[in-house]
Amino acid sequence: MSSPELPPGLSVVVPVYNGASALPELVRRLQAALDATQRRYEVVLVDDGSTDDTWATMSALTGEHVFVRSLRLARNYGQHNALLAGIRSARHDVTVTIDADLQYPSDRIPQLIAKLDEGWDVVYATAGRRTEGVLRRLASWFARRLLRRAMGTAVTFSSFRAFRTQLRNGFATFGGRYVSIDVLLSWTTTRFTAVEVEQTARSEGRSSYSPRRLASLALTMLTAFTTLPLRLASLVGFAFTLFGFALLLFVLVRFAVSGSEVPGFAFLASIISIFAGAQLFALGIIGEYLARVHMRVLDPPTYSVREELP
Ligand code: UDP
Ligand code: MG
Repeated sequence: MSSPELPPGLSVVVPVYNGASALPELVRRLQAALDATQRRYEVVLVDDGSTDDTWATMSALTGEHVFVRSLRLARNYGQHNALLAGIRSARHDVTVTIDADLQYPSDRIPQLIAKLDEGWDVVYATAGRRTEGVLRRLASWFARRLLRRAMGTAVTFSSFRAFRTQLRNGFATFGGRYVSIDVLLSWTTTRFTAVEVEQTARSEGRSSYSPRRLASLALTMLTAFTTLPLRLASLVGFAFTLFGFALLLFVLVRFAVSGSEVPGFAFLASIISIFAGAQLFALGIIGEYLARVHMRVLDPPTYSVREELP
């Protein structure tokens, strides 16, 4: 992989889901940016089960440029699964990942590489000013907070990143259905940093993440990489136990002082339903984790490659 006299080569990995229209322009921009680095490079395009003519466009680009390679996954697995497929097939010492939709300025790649040369292992190009909708920003904010907790680092994440390819040795045997590239990277290093770049609004098409998909992604992140919800369940249980004791005390004191019992049915019914609710809530959280364990036992592949070019 490495040769002593040359500077490390670059592998740019791009996950693509229904992004055929932007691909030729992306490859053109990447070529310009990478030529400027004066290093050896390749661009690895990963078709994540697109339903438009993404694969046809990739095949054409692969035929046109020697530096382009293409992977086609068997179906839609998700952005990080597709990234993992590309990262595992990278041939150079430095891996760069970027979105396919031209939202990130690819001419900033040299800036990321410069940071790696300073000794950092992972460099994120974060957008100073976000150009997305409120819901999307809220979801990103939530996902970032969770990620930071899961990884124990305070860096700002982005899907435009550069890292040393050798970090992948730390997750060579990873095989889960749910992947976060950033969490995987944090398994082998703590040397994360970020540089700020501008992000442009989508030139065409729309985000492949619907609000529903974002919500499910946030839940996945929450349960796949942290045990926070379990702790929440214990806390809720504890709070309700305290509440129950306070209530008992209230009933006893009232009986001792005025001799009257607390009047009945409505009170009992509401208490019972609150407790039943809290119990089911906690059970649901435990069930969510059980489902994750179940998925691990089933062991569906993280991705499956259908075709590879050249
Ligand atoms: N992507 C993917 N598989 C998916 C969804 C998205 O490979 O199931 C890719 C997509 O082609 C793009 C990147 O992930 O290169 C980010 O997706 P998008 O731009 O839609 O997300 P957003 O801009 O909302 O972060
Ligand atoms: Mg995007």
